[in-house]
Amino acid sequence: EHEWTVLLPAEIHPAGPESIADIATTVSRGEYETRANLLADADRFDAVITRTEPIDGEFIAAASDLEIISKHGVGYDNIDVDTATENGVLVTNTPGVNSRAVAEHAITLLLAVRRRLRPADGAVRSGTGERYDAVTDQFRNDTVGLYGYGDIGSEVASVVSGLGMDCLVYDPYVDESDLAAQVTKIDSVAGLFDRADAVSVHAPLTPETRAAISEAELRRLAPSGILINTARAEIVDLNALVSSLEAGELSGAGIDVFAEGPPSREHPLFEYENVVLTPHIGAQTTESLTAMSRRSANNVRSVYDG
Ligand code: NAD
Repeated sequence: EHEWTVLLPAEIHPAGPESIADIATTVSRGEYETRANLLADADRFDAVITRTEPIDGEFIAAASDLEIISKHGVGYDNIDVDTATENGVLVTNTPGVNSRAVAEHAITLLLAVRRRLRPADGAVRSGTGERYDAVTDQFRNDTVGLYGYGDIGSEVASVVSGLGMDCLVYDPYVDESDLAAQVTKIDSVAGLFDRADAVSVHAPLTPETRAAISEAELRRLAPSGILINTARAEIVDLNALVSSLEAGELSGAGIDVFAEGPPSREHPLFEYENVVLTPHIGAQTTESLTAMSRRSANNVRSVYDG
């Protein structure tokens, strides 16, 4: 086999590209000024290692020698899998290796919102909070609802249980026997929102989950309720979330994922003090970035080796 050429649409930890240097040269997307330039040269690539950058049908069709699209991460909603499959291009991902990082981030957001860290921090910074007067309840014995119980959801469940919170799970594709002992399964989304103090989203974006969390669901949370989303923006109807915050039906939210990158300053979410926003950093730990880089490169090697 000839040496492969691998397109890297975004920078990744060097560990992965270094590990396949014996079989492949990597080319950064930055070497092409325009998309047209990239498309014109697409047939030189044998593989792509992508994070969240879209790998669409037009690129796949133009890349006539492409053998694998290797997702650096889990959710491959940025990849046109149907076109890839029609063209005989394999799509792989790196399950499990970032789940601890994302779970830790979801819990970090949950605790920050739960103890109202943003308004408290703001009170200190603005000099008005000599003794900040907001009182919260302890979170021990709270019920955390997980929408999706895969690699990340189950990791969240184990940490949350360690913190003394109860854990309720909605995931139609998980058997009761796959649940940890301290986790209770529930069969309806409505039931999850009725019974949970906070809901954390850990499902993939699919036709079924798109906008699955909207006004009707959010209204079921108590006014002290919290929504955490580190999965995909499109699963939660953002307008509905803003309306619920405005109506006081929800006490706060923690959001790591946005449909079109971080929202503009004018976005209504900025008006609610107990909302913590992060720019898709759930998986950004050294451990997880190194592991995703190595694993996604190794998937390229496996296809190279046949
Ligand atoms: P996973 O495949 O291990 O788990 C997903 C779970 O969701 C599965 O158990 C599945 O049965 C369940 N599910 C599917 N459809 C559902 C539905 N309609 N309702 C409820 N549950 C449903 O994936 P994972 O590693 O746990 O990751 C979950 C998602 O998190 C990914 O798809 C990705 O979009 C997102 N993610 C975000 C970041 C980040 O940086 N914020 C990083 C990694 C992953």
